[in-house]
Amino acid sequence: MKTVSGRGSLGTVGEFGLIRQLKRQWPTASPWVLKGIGDDAAILKMSPGQQLLLSTDTFIEGVHFDLAFQTLRDVGFRAGVANLSDIAAMGGRPLSLLVSMALPVHISVQHIRALYRGIRDACGSNAVALIGGDTSSSPRDIFLSLTIIGTIPSHRALTRSGAAVGDHLYVTGTLGDAHAGLHILRTHARRHRTARLSVIEQFLTQRHLRPIPRLDIGQILATRGIAHAAIDLSDGLSGDIQHICESSQVGIEIWANALPLSPQLRAFAHNNHLDPFSLALTGGDDYELLFTAQAQCHDTVLGLARRTGVPITWIGEVKPKKFGQRLTHPQGRTRKLSPKSYRHFVTRTTSPSPTPSS
Ligand code: ADP
Ligand code: MG
Repeated sequence: MKTVSGRGSLGTVGEFGLIRQLKRQWPTASPWVLKGIGDDAAILKMSPGQQLLLSTDTFIEGVHFDLAFQTLRDVGFRAGVANLSDIAAMGGRPLSLLVSMALPVHISVQHIRALYRGIRDACGSNAVALIGGDTSSSPRDIFLSLTIIGTIPSHRALTRSGAAVGDHLYVTGTLGDAHAGLHILRTHARRHRTARLSVIEQFLTQRHLRPIPRLDIGQILATRGIAHAAIDLSDGLSGDIQHICESSQVGIEIWANALPLSPQLRAFAHNNHLDPFSLALTGGDDYELLFTAQAQCHDTVLGLARRTGVPITWIGEVKPKKFGQRLTHPQGRTRKLSPKSYRHFVTRTTSPSPTPSS
């Protein structure tokens, strides 16, 4: 990354100069925000009948992102999506954001603005207001922490604990693409490749760099009472599914041949002698929604997919707890699902390694 040490660096502009610039860069007027950036705390107005949702994520250079193959705008975008996706998984509407960061003083203000542009891009057409944050210096690496505030009509939030035996298990979009995309980006950076990416590689790397938070689907699932439980896929299906099973005290059966795989992922797996199903099960960072709904709601769920244009696939069923978590292959062979998603603080030995989620 190019940094600047003279005019235009964080060291020259200073913390308050930077905050003024960032505030001007993100001038969202929101009826919810009575006081945004500029005081000791922001003030939000709440409507009756609504509940607050709060979620925070941390992103550390060298752990969650690598500027060898990502721009700061990319980093901001992914950080924003990770944060928004948590609100999507609860079925809520994002309202406002706090961004805290620790930055090396030689970093240019232009780069920090690009980081904020990425976060703002991730918010898309949702009127998310930037209401505050914190700015500090860091000796070397960039640290970023995003806190999102959302709302949901009272008692409508989707949790991990609502799954019931007999529910259908669904997932939005396709699985494993983002992980394959990360692998491609890493490999190109390591080999200092300058060759253009193939069309397949472009698709997969975009899925890593520009994931889509499924806010619309989450909101419909929650407000219309369609889903019983939901979680966003940040660690990978086999890991995230454990959370639903533990919180809901249930077991789960997944049908391997039902897993939604993009043609691009299949081609990537074929070319690299990898198993596309294991990429789909363990690859993190897809930010798709995994949810359960009563069998009677099946047509409603399919209608939702048609209406939103987002694929929704029926991939399994909720079972009693003693069933455990199993993956069934077309030939009838079943195996226990193991949570092989990325774990912080656990030594990694395999490659390509799943990405850490926040
Ligand atoms: P305090 O000393 O009370 O923590 P600060 O000087 O850190 O106040 O922050 C002043 C204002 O600027 C506050 O409203 C804070 O939320 C906001 N702010 C600080 N850093 C950032 C940032 N990186 N992004 C957005 N807002 C920020
Ligand atoms: Mg502060």
